[in-house]
Amino acid sequence: MKQDIARVLIDEKVIEKRLDVMAAQIEREFPEGTLLAIILLKGALVFAADLLRRVERPLEIECLNVSSYHGGTESSGKVDFLDRSFPEVKGRHVLLLDDILDTGRTLHAVAERLREEGAEAVHTCVLLSKDRPRVEEVEADYTGFQIGDEFVVGYGLDYMGRYRNLPHVAVLTPEAIARG
Ligand code: 5GP
Ligand code: MG
Repeated sequence: MKQDIARVLIDEKVIEKRLDVMAAQIEREFPEGTLLAIILLKGALVFAADLLRRVERPLEIECLNVSSYHGGTESSGKVDFLDRSFPEVKGRHVLLLDDILDTGRTLHAVAERLREEGAEAVHTCVLLSKDRPRVEEVEADYTGFQIGDEFVVGYGLDYMGRYRNLPHVAVLTPEAIARG
C-alpha cells in the first residue's frame, strides 16, 4: 500500500488536532437537545468515528448509503440513495457528515432529502472541501481542511474500494491509479 502513495497531503497528527477544534465548535454551537449525527457511508465512517467521540453531548447516530462515484475518480453526476429505509428525522437537528465536498451534489441532495423528511435543521460537516467550482451551491457549516482539486484517498476515502484504512489523507501515484 505504501508504494502506491505519491504524497501525504494531511498527516494523522494534523487531522487529530483539527478534530479537537471541530468537536469543540460543534459542542458550543449546536442547539440544545440530543444531536442526531447522520454518517454518509462509507467515506465518512473513519472521520465520523474519530470526530463524534470527541463531542461531549447527548448524541444518536444513523448511517446512510449514498453513491455518486461508482468506484472511479470522477463524479458520476447522480446521487443514489441505496438504503431501503430512511432514518426518522422529523423535528431533529441533524449533523450530516461526509468525507469530502467536491461538486456539492451529494451534500445538496442529502440535505434536501432530510429537509423533505421533516428535519428541523441540517448542519453539514465535512473533513475535506475541494477548492473548485460547485455544481450545486452548497458549503459545509463545519469544514476540516480546504484542499486543491485533486483526487485523494485515505482516512475513509477510497479508490476502487481500497485505501480507506490509511491513517492520513494522501495522493496516489499515477501507476496505482492506472492499475486500479
Ligand atoms: P460531490 O457529490 O460533492 O461531487 O462528491 C462527494 C462524494 O464524492 C464524496 O462523498 C466522495 O465519496 C466522492 N469524492 C469526491 N472527491 C473525492 C476524492 O478526491 N477522493 C475520493 N476517494 N472520493 C471523492
Ligand atoms: Mg465515496
